[in-house]
Amino acid sequence: MSDRSALLQALDGAGRRRTAPRRELATLIAGFDGAFTAADLSSAARRRGLDVGRATVFRTLDLLQSVGAVERIDLPEGEHAYVACTPSDHHHHVICTVCGLSTDVRDPSMVQLASTVAASSGYRIDMHRLELFGVCPACQASGRG
Ligand SMILES: [Zn+2]
Ligand SMILES: [Zn+2]
Ligand SMILES: [Zn+2]
Repeated sequence: MSDRSALLQALDGAGRRRTAPRRELATLIAGFDGAFTAADLSSAARRRGLDVGRATVFRTLDLLQSVGAVERIDLPEGEHAYVACTPSDHHHHVICTVCGLSTDVRDPSMVQLASTVAASSGYRIDMHRLELFGVCPACQASGRG
């Protein structure tokens, strides 16, 4: 989910000041349709003529990640990307490996799976992460996938 006001609210909720660079970056993040890398964000900022250094980009991404407004995704190739996210709303993402589109997945059977594993392994499961990768309907239709 990409919603600029949700991103800004998340910063407020964490008691963070909305500095100008954070506001600008939140706007850019809300403009991405799905997964983006820190490099994507940096070049989007440069294209808009914003004076935002790499350190600010990473700090802002870390901050948004810590309040749950951005989630870090480990890509199959070993790189990292980010998706804008709804804080405190547990869900997973299915990500297109062709265009990077990300769709939220809310499926109670995933929660069920964690309890099943807890029961069979004896572990107390505290958290889980699950990302699904594939080719989105638009990319399939255009023959890109
Ligand atoms: Zn999400
Ligand atoms: Zn796609
Ligand atoms: Zn889950």
